[in-house]
Order: sequence, then structure tokens, then C-alpha cells
Amino acid sequence: MHKSICSNCGHDESKCSPEETYRRAKELIGFKGQASAALLQRDLKISYAKSAEILDKLEADGLIGPADGANPRSIKTTS
Ligand SMILES: [Zn+2]
Repeated sequence: MHKSICSNCGHDESKCSPEETYRRAKELIGFKGQASAALLQRDLKISYAKSAEILDKLEADGLIGPADGANPRSIKTTS
């Protein structure tokens, strides 16, 4: 059975800590220049609920804009 191995720490991705997943999500949206639950879900191989949770945290941290219907959220990173 195929397992998703974390490219970051080399173990099963389901074992990554929430902090690590959040950090990877942050890198991902900076790299892709877009933020959506579907993107995080696909690229980080996490659940949609988890993706939505991370987006809310990114918004709370001022890194992305608020949800706007089906549109992707705006990115507020300045670096
Ligand atoms: Zn990991």
C-alpha cells in the first residue's frame, strides 16, 4: 500500500505535527501565490477540514485575506 512520505522529515505524513503542517502550508501558498483549501488538501495530502482550519489560522495571522465565496483568498505576504 502506498504511503505518503513527508518530503520534509521523511516519515509518514500523517505523523507530521500541526505546527509543521502549518509551516509547510505557509511555504506552499508563498510558492504557488494562491491559497485555497483544495490546494492545501492536494499538495499537503491533508483533509479538507484540516485545510480549512489552516486557512483560518493563516487569516488570523494576517497572511491571507478572508474567504470570498469560491474565489481564492488573497495573499498578504510582503517578503
Ligand atoms: Zn513531516
